[in-house]
Amino acid sequence: MAVTVLIPTALRQFAGGQSEFQVEGKTVGEVLERVTSANADLRKHLYSDESRLRSFVNVYVNDEDIRSSERLNTPVKDGDTISIVPAIAGGAATEAAVADRELPKLSNEEIARYSRHLIMPEVGMEGQRKLKAARVLMIGTGGLGAPLGMYLAAAGVGTLGIVDFDVVDESNLQRQIVHGTRDVGRPKIESARDRLQDINPHIKIETYETRLSSENALELFRDYDIIVDGTDNFPTRYLVNDACVLTGKANVYGSIFRFEGQASVFWAERGACYRCLYPEPPPPGLVPSCAEGGVLGVLPGIVGAIQANEAIKLILGAGESLINRLLLFDAWRMRFRELKLRKDPDCPVCGPHATIKELIDYEEFCGLRPPVAAPTQEEKAQMEEITATELKQRLDQGDDLQIIDVREPHEYEIAKLEQAKLIPLGQVVGRMNEIDPNRETVVHCKGGVRSAKAIEALQRAGFAGRLVNLRGGITAWSNDVDPSVPKY
Ligand code: ZN
Repeated sequence: MAVTVLIPTALRQFAGGQSEFQVEGKTVGEVLERVTSANADLRKHLYSDESRLRSFVNVYVNDEDIRSSERLNTPVKDGDTISIVPAIAGGAATEAAVADRELPKLSNEEIARYSRHLIMPEVGMEGQRKLKAARVLMIGTGGLGAPLGMYLAAAGVGTLGIVDFDVVDESNLQRQIVHGTRDVGRPKIESARDRLQDINPHIKIETYETRLSSENALELFRDYDIIVDGTDNFPTRYLVNDACVLTGKANVYGSIFRFEGQASVFWAERGACYRCLYPEPPPPGLVPSCAEGGVLGVLPGIVGAIQANEAIKLILGAGESLINRLLLFDAWRMRFRELKLRKDPDCPVCGPHATIKELIDYEEFCGLRPPVAAPTQEEKAQMEEITATELKQRLDQGDDLQIIDVREPHEYEIAKLEQAKLIPLGQVVGRMNEIDPNRETVVHCKGGVRSAKAIEALQRAGFAGRLVNLRGGITAWSNDVDPSVPKY
């Protein structure tokens, strides 16, 4: 009689392909010592250099979890079974990916710079060298990407890739603190690169001034250990998720809206992916974007910092990661909540019967592009448009136009057209009787999208009058007619 040690599938390749061992011993430590002294590779995966069991390895004796500090001293007797279970909520394979590399040495300047990390046993010299060896790709340098990039750069993540195609706009500065006032008009990746390199000249920054797409994502992701998703739209979220699953990368997720945030780590090899959580995107228009709904400026600072924290723990292969946990943060009530996630056995991308084996058209998947064709000529012809300049001319020549503003009252407070009557989009059908069908009606919003929806809704509801959409909304009015109208 002896103790049986069960080796999980993931670790059998390090144990000569064996699924179990029969070993003598009086404690868990003694038994595992015998098994691993005969299998050096397995030992490397189970123990840290200090001969402590790695934090992502769970050990069960029979059915009891012995994950306490004294676990190696747990007594065992003949007939017992010890199971080794790499934790789903741990953080290991990235560590393995980084640890497989020869870890770079730190220069004296780097040692001085990272001293607050080096004196923490949880990071230490080995952890800091792992950070230096790590390659992290950030998608987006906006609200989430700003704190993320700054903390990852400061922490000494050796190679940071940044993907963005946008240009710094004045309205970004309320939250995208990696960019400054003098950067307005510059490509975001240039502005971010300069700032991050200034924070830490010891790291390498690789920039990709491009929109992440189904054509370039797999190739980009392959060269990195971890992908951090700082995007703001559903097509890119699903693209990042699927590309991470297909390349086996961890996806450090964060999202924000007004004063609520979410964060998680989606890593199909160890737990749920984004599609396990949200198999399908919301229909277009149901969940407004930050550009439409607004966002509290400090919120992406908090959520982005949480993402940076998760990325760093994955690199160190320590701590408890957000794998299989969805963190919900309410900045208004100042509350954190946590939901357990489970891998969906029917997940179309990470499940055993996955149907998605390559990247798809994510705009179409999210309903943003009709799979068949663009609107017909007839449909287009139904939506009459007017430019801001034309509208100004017609008002100046005394044409009888009624102007309906379908934005929200708080937007009306910021900027308005003097002649306009406010009827928010959500009320426009119910208050149709306030619009005179015998007069030509120009409908406007901030940028022209909501006003087009309002016109569609009114026409469907049977409104008989002539409706004209102001192309580009009040923003175009400010750009082309009256710059004293503030843009927001
Ligand atoms: Zn999945």
